[in-house]
Amino acid sequence: MQLDMFPEYIDYSEQEVLLGLSGGINSMAVLCWLSKCDPKYYPKTLHLFYAHLAEHSDDTFRFVADGVRFARRVFPSVQFRMVRGSVIEYFESQKMIPHPTKSPCTRVLKLEPMFTYMAEHGITENVVGYVKGEAIRRASRMAKRTNSDLNHVVADGVRVRFPISSHDNEWCFDICRELIGWYPAIYDIRDAKGNRVFKHNNCLPCKNMELADFKAVGKHFPEKMAKAVELSDRLKRHWGRNADDFYTTFGREEWEAIECEHCAFD
Ligand code: SF4
Repeated sequence: MQLDMFPEYIDYSEQEVLLGLSGGINSMAVLCWLSKCDPKYYPKTLHLFYAHLAEHSDDTFRFVADGVRFARRVFPSVQFRMVRGSVIEYFESQKMIPHPTKSPCTRVLKLEPMFTYMAEHGITENVVGYVKGEAIRRASRMAKRTNSDLNHVVADGVRVRFPISSHDNEWCFDICRELIGWYPAIYDIRDAKGNRVFKHNNCLPCKNMELADFKAVGKHFPEKMAKAVELSDRLKRHWGRNADDFYTTFGREEWEAIECEHCAFD
């Protein structure tokens, strides 16, 4: 099914529009895309929201800040709100590292502060940077959750649109390069075949990662991976789906020297 592509003639001039910047290229590409619409349709107020996590790659904040500066040059009214957090501190406080299928970190550190902001500022439209491929899948999930039509998703009274859903990641890189001037260095780390090692600029590491991703974080961001492994050791919890793989690779030996089942019942 095709999403309606949020064409240029949509008039935002009476709307309070929220764009959640993640620090990655997709949400920044939405900002760039919006700037190319007819100025008479620009949002009444464009609200930019960013949850900065300590585990983001080092130039992420600078990228977001440049995006905000760009927005302030282009749009008549821009508000920016940033909150700060750390998944490692959050996991430590909860004494767990969540399973990949559960994301309390996203909910508590990113979504709840953003929803609070939306309610406080009368947001009427939310633009989301899902790109080709993931757009239909994620938008369908959101439509199902909110009991809305795919082309008319409404969550808590806020219309949600997916303006770049006909584009792919490479288009996002191009438009960010053109209008922001750059994008975070993490995306240009390549493997031996020239493929991008990191598809997203998210937490390093993210608890959803596969073993190969954790290895890549260990190789390219050793300090961040070291903090993650220290947390694992303190909590006796592993990152990702498989404890054996994780501990075999990152070497917490106590995991293997578990108490003998028989002795445990003596
Ligand atoms: S990127 Fe991963 S670890 Fe970070 S908040 Fe999202 S789900 Fe949690």
